[in-house]
Amino acid sequence: MNIHEYQAKDILKGYGVRIQEGIVVDTPAQAVEAARELNQQTGTKWFVIKAQIHAGGRGKGGGVKLAKTYDEVKEKSKAILGMQLITHQTGPEGKKVNKVLISEDVYYPGNNEPKEFYLSILLDRGRSCNVIMASTEGGMDIEEVAANSPEKIIKEWIDPRVGLQSFQARKIAFALGLEGDAHKEMVKFIGALYRAYVDTDSSMFEINPVLKTSDNKILAVDAKVNLDDNAMFRHKDFTSLRDLAEEDPLEVEASANDLNYVKLDGNVGCMVNGAGLAMATMDIIKLSGGEPANFLDVGGGANAKTVEAGFRIILKDPNVKAILINIFGGIVRCDRVANGVVEAYKNIGEIKVPIVVRLQGTNAEEGAKIIDESGLKVYSAVLLKDAAERIKDVLKEQAK
Ligand code: GDP
Ligand code: MN
Repeated sequence: MNIHEYQAKDILKGYGVRIQEGIVVDTPAQAVEAARELNQQTGTKWFVIKAQIHAGGRGKGGGVKLAKTYDEVKEKSKAILGMQLITHQTGPEGKKVNKVLISEDVYYPGNNEPKEFYLSILLDRGRSCNVIMASTEGGMDIEEVAANSPEKIIKEWIDPRVGLQSFQARKIAFALGLEGDAHKEMVKFIGALYRAYVDTDSSMFEINPVLKTSDNKILAVDAKVNLDDNAMFRHKDFTSLRDLAEEDPLEVEASANDLNYVKLDGNVGCMVNGAGLAMATMDIIKLSGGEPANFLDVGGGANAKTVEAGFRIILKDPNVKAILINIFGGIVRCDRVANGVVEAYKNIGEIKVPIVVRLQGTNAEEGAKIIDESGLKVYSAVLLKDAAERIKDVLKEQAK
């Protein structure tokens, strides 16, 4: 589960990670109040207005602005709130900004220049342990650094049996070229960050940039946190952090129906039982000349209700030109699924897109019979090859 920057910073602060202080608001008037409060708390004279959306690259997209007066705080919040923010991670349609984080300015001048670093923690599945990645090339596109100068990314793998050792944190701080107070601060920062990562069962932390201020403090200016959905049962308090406005509405509806659905950009919708079969089905769709419009695993116990919910979700996607249902009757019987398809079809009313149903396994013949005798515009197939041919025909017909 992805969360907002302001929520991530709240969590980090709770673990003793120093952050750029801020207050989240949703109106320009509140923004000015928040700025005054921050001035009281931290003494900051300048402020940063930061759009809160689940995507990076906000700065480049115009979603992060410096304000030097309270009037500017008001003006710039007004401009950012409600805007459709487009970044390289949002897609061309962008994301609507509903909240802004009013933050203290931490790039103030002093004896040294402020310096940005990159720091992230994630799971290295290949080595079965967490890895801390760090770079002196902070603030910029880390993908670019990784592609053009991979030697500038430092990696430190953490043995899960012993956890982060202090020498490892020191090694990273040295590699980043830090000395004196800044070095000590960085070691403390990494230690607290790692504790937060493990304790929250996160699957990714990305702090870009981590800032060394002009007076040698180390703090998180940005915070991207991904919480592991599979560990949510241990963190009931995190469920309130979910922001449905940030998620694809069809995926929200699917999760409410316990369906494993991922929206894609293609033209052939599919409904399958079992994730492996679902992926194989997507391959078949591609082989037939189509593009999968989604991934949808209805699970082992597919029944009329889940089939109907799945149908409704697929049909709401305007790109869908055909639907392929591929069910292997192991635990679930094919005749049951067939009845579910017919029932769902009738409940939904007129369905304009052609549907190909491939049933295989327990009671496959009975299932095919039910489909064929229903009088609905549904083609049945027993062999996957036939189903693929059908989809090919349907797409060809539509191309005419
Ligand atoms: P992102 O663009 O979505 O990754 O958002 P960030 O939170 O990383 O902010 C983008 C950029 O805004 C940073 O790299 C900084 O250059 C700038 N920025 C953030 N906070 C401050 C601040 O307190 N003062 C100034 N002057 N710039 C800031
Ligand atoms: Mn950033």
